[in-house]
Amino acid sequence: MKRLPIFDSTLLESRRGFLRGVATSALAIVPVAALGCGQPLVCTDVAGLSADEQEQRRNAAYKDASPEPAKRCNNCAAFKPAAADKCGECTEIKGPVHPQGFCNLWRQKA
Ligand code: SF4
Repeated sequence: MKRLPIFDSTLLESRRGFLRGVATSALAIVPVAALGCGQPLVCTDVAGLSADEQEQRRNAAYKDASPEPAKRCNNCAAFKPAAADKCGECTEIKGPVHPQGFCNLWRQKA
């Protein structure tokens, strides 16, 4: 009796090999994709701040994205930069500060 190709063990083995190859390739692509699609920098975690520090931050109306392109934390006199792709600090408010952020205390860096 002739076997149907789908039940042929060599074909089945090659299908397993194919599927194994696809799975391995997919696993290899995921980390590469993750490297290419970095998460946007978020500097809004105030969990470590006291209630007063959080209120001061709210009063300054801090935002991660400046509404005024010419006024950003990274050109403010109070900004203390960190390593690339990390939140910086500020001498005026506590907590993480985005380089492209802004608050009402902005003043031009000399
Ligand atoms: S004072 Fe405001 S604008 Fe200036 S670095 Fe601090 S948070 Fe950013």
